[in-house]
Amino acid sequence: MKRYTSILRMSRLYAPTLKEDPSDADIVSAKLLTRAGMIRKEASGLFTFMPLGMRVLHKIQDIVREEMDSHGGQEILMPFVQSADLWRQSGRWGVYGDEMLRLNDRHDNEFCLGPTHEEVVTDLVKNELRSYKDCPKNLYQIQLKFRDERRPRFGLLRSREFVMKDAYSFDVSEEGLDVSYAQMRDAYINMFSRMGLNYRIVAADSGEIGGSGSEEFMVLAEAGESDLVYCSCGYASDVEIASASPLPTEYQVDEMSKVATPGVHTIAELAEFLSIPESSCVKAFSGKDADGQIWVLFVPGHYEVNELKASRVAKGFEPLTDEEMVNAGLVKGSMGPVGLPVGVKVAADESLRSIARWVVGANEDGFHYVGAKQAEDFTVDAWADLCVTQPGEACPCCGKPLESARGIEVGQIFKLGTKYSAAMEAKFMDEDGVEKPFVMGCYGVGVSRTLAAAVEQCNDEYGIVWPAAIAPAHVCVIPLSTKPDEVTEAAEALAGQLAEAGLEVCIDDRNERAGVKFNDADLIGWPVQVTVGKRGLKEGTVEVKNRATGEKVSVALDQVQAAVEAVLA
Ligand code: ATP
Ligand code: MG
Repeated sequence: MKRYTSILRMSRLYAPTLKEDPSDADIVSAKLLTRAGMIRKEASGLFTFMPLGMRVLHKIQDIVREEMDSHGGQEILMPFVQSADLWRQSGRWGVYGDEMLRLNDRHDNEFCLGPTHEEVVTDLVKNELRSYKDCPKNLYQIQLKFRDERRPRFGLLRSREFVMKDAYSFDVSEEGLDVSYAQMRDAYINMFSRMGLNYRIVAADSGEIGGSGSEEFMVLAEAGESDLVYCSCGYASDVEIASASPLPTEYQVDEMSKVATPGVHTIAELAEFLSIPESSCVKAFSGKDADGQIWVLFVPGHYEVNELKASRVAKGFEPLTDEEMVNAGLVKGSMGPVGLPVGVKVAADESLRSIARWVVGANEDGFHYVGAKQAEDFTVDAWADLCVTQPGEACPCCGKPLESARGIEVGQIFKLGTKYSAAMEAKFMDEDGVEKPFVMGCYGVGVSRTLAAAVEQCNDEYGIVWPAAIAPAHVCVIPLSTKPDEVTEAAEALAGQLAEAGLEVCIDDRNERAGVKFNDADLIGWPVQVTVGKRGLKEGTVEVKNRATGEKVSVALDQVQAAVEAVLA
């Protein structure tokens, strides 16, 4: 629990705090970490960790390292600068894109700053892990990465240079990989739980990278870039991937009629015009697949089409531009399945299967059909899950209503398979004497992003509220005196006792007013503050404040350690 043994003195600490938010900080964590003197921005996406920020970074790294080591990982450190040749072997030199910062040495050899290390680590084991008997192996490092992000923003959440823990496992079979993957999953669960973070594990779409399975660890916070739905039963998913079970409302009519709907172009307008709920209308969305085939997709009116899901039906799905719609003979704002141009394919959300008659566009500006009947008036080429999942829908695991949240991806675990080992000819000799490529997994934690994610999740109007496990120190002792007297003396003695007892202690021994000390203590976010004042001392007491709850209690001098530990527990 304890990393730092010596008492931190605010009088000497390099942690210039700011009263105002820095003008270029676009998110709470960037504002608070800068104001608390923990980080400084050097340039776009480039940050310095100052002493307090460094302490938190170390705490996080310690937890990551312990869990990696106890789950089969072995720490290494690979070069940050990587040779282009390795990337040519894997075939990624040409495809990685502008996120990779490339450079040449004095001999004109090509290099890049490592955005990730699959190539280096595969090369590392290539000629030395030779037999099935040598596996499994799991190698990891905690190191800087550089990605020349198109839009560095949100402080440490999306920077260009950042600290990552990246691990790579080497197995001889898919079954072996399953075991390695499960071990890493356990390690990650322990890590983020120990850090005191509220997180969810979601299935990731691993389609593009060609792996067979992947999950992301998401810290729940408003600032997150991912939209999640989750349930108390443990189910969680990105809304893009979660299977929706929308409930359309059938509008009962006996036959189809064509209705003039002048000026109606949206579902909201249609619902209002017909005085029916949006869930009784059917929404249309047009696109094309990779072969140029035109598709019109239908979902219940109160839902949106999810393009990722659409691309499972229509591979490479892309929405049509207005011009493409005109060229395809489609009428924006009035599309429907009846009377579509020849050759256009129709897909519809599963939930519409049970809705016999639809209220839907008539492929003619200013007209809609009410009661268009499936099988009689139109047919559907493909039924599929097409909707963006919404909170309130039934959980696919247990049926309870789903809740929604935003998530910050702090880690991802990945079954890579043989993609890199096959390309780079990293092979072992199997039991049957046959050479086979290693079956690999890779596992990343955004260490510096996790630090910022913790602040996003744990803050209030006064500043940061660090979870005890990753706080820069456990307790700050605040003497309400500026010159040496019995108050500073008692505070020093108390700080010494607390440190002796195994706590990480800071003492605000600056020549500052009480208000300044209190504000800084709240801003920096020590989990516990112990205030030593003249009046209390007369009665032998000090005040112990719980930063998270704001609760203050008067405690006898010999009870302080117990009171501090009670807050930390
Ligand atoms: P994102 O989708 O957010 O760009 P990614 O999926 O490309 O991230 P990975 O390759 O999975 O990232 O990297 C592992 C971890 O590194 C991520 O889970 C994330 O926590 C962290 N990370 C990735 N990019 C950045 C960045 N620009 N700044 C800070 N941390 C990052
Ligand atoms: Mg990722």
